[in-house]
Amino acid sequence: MIIREQEPLSHRTTLKVGGHAAYFCEVHRKEELQDVRVYAQEKNLPVLFLGGGSNVLISNKGFSGLVVSLNTKGITYKDISDSEVSVEIAAGELWDDAVRQTVEKGLWGLENLSYIPGKVGACPVQNIGAYGVEVKDTISSVTVFNMRTGAYELYSNADCAFGYRDSVFKKSTHKHLCIVSVTFTLSRIPKRKIDYKDVSLALSQKNITEPSIEDIRSTIIEIRKAKFPDMTKVGTAGSFWKNPIISESDFNKLKHAYPLMPSFPARAGFVKIPLAWILDNVCHLKGFKEGNVGLFEKQPLVLVAYDRSSDREVRDFAQKIALIVKDKTGVSIEPEVEYIG
Ligand code: NAP
Repeated sequence: MIIREQEPLSHRTTLKVGGHAAYFCEVHRKEELQDVRVYAQEKNLPVLFLGGGSNVLISNKGFSGLVVSLNTKGITYKDISDSEVSVEIAAGELWDDAVRQTVEKGLWGLENLSYIPGKVGACPVQNIGAYGVEVKDTISSVTVFNMRTGAYELYSNADCAFGYRDSVFKKSTHKHLCIVSVTFTLSRIPKRKIDYKDVSLALSQKNITEPSIEDIRSTIIEIRKAKFPDMTKVGTAGSFWKNPIISESDFNKLKHAYPLMPSFPARAGFVKIPLAWILDNVCHLKGFKEGNVGLFEKQPLVLVAYDRSSDREVRDFAQKIALIVKDKTGVSIEPEVEYIG
């Protein structure tokens, strides 16, 4: 294990913002995590595990501890029954490479989550979701390495306490756990989830009524390419905020003022409202730009950090947007992106 000092981090995040890691290493084999643990304990360093860097905003001051980039690889398949297969994927695999491989094997369950950036280890943390599917629907367990005890632990789906863009791994009490692999239960039998508006529309435009798993993956890739910015070209973390979940009574008041405002069912007594719709139709902020930061013109939930922007500019801009939304609607919004340092 090679430890480097003063390692720049901005190019390791998709927002392309941030300072240096005081200490940095890459892990290619899970056994190396024991060395990481010993090193961090000897030097009394906080540890940050970095996957694809697609959901973090790192401060320009950097991170004063040890940043660990996880590059472990490997996918293993085990038959559970004639129809179900257990698939264990190493945390360092690129998420979309893993999805592509399961799709190529005709295993249903992850195809709607195609073309999401990041690595597999990050997928349970915020329970990634898209087009009517959340990763919690197929995760059977998550294997973690406990940096305090040096032991491997198995978290069942229930142990993960998944919620909307949430899990136990987001809690400060669980930050000492490094996700080593994620195990999914996938199906050989088609399980099409194609009700989501953008997906059903795109399929019907192609006259596809009974799509194959490849049809669904390619259609979703087309939709995402058309709507989301190219992360290799601009600094962005995809959706910057979570969609707000508000009480039905608050929603009814908003609906009175904005009769066209959409909503989706959430837990009893609450509804989820699409923030992109509010930013566009209530706040008129689609494409709004200030200095080096802006909201993407095709999807305002996506914040774009243009050349040379600092974490301070991004934070100030995000706070300004949150204040405008609060002022216009009374709704508080929360970043999906994690602020580091
Ligand atoms: P969209 O279709 O423009 O819809 C806006 C939002 O409304 C969605 O993000 C979704 O909220 C909600 N929504 C729409 N139809 C829904 C339904 N039938 N049931 C429940 N909620 C519904 O969305 P978009 O911005 O283009 O995003 C496309 C998909 O990619 C969405 O499913 C979105 O969740 C997903 N996405 C996920 C992430 C992430 O996991 N970090 C980032 C970007 C986009 P929710 O996003 O709350 O589901």
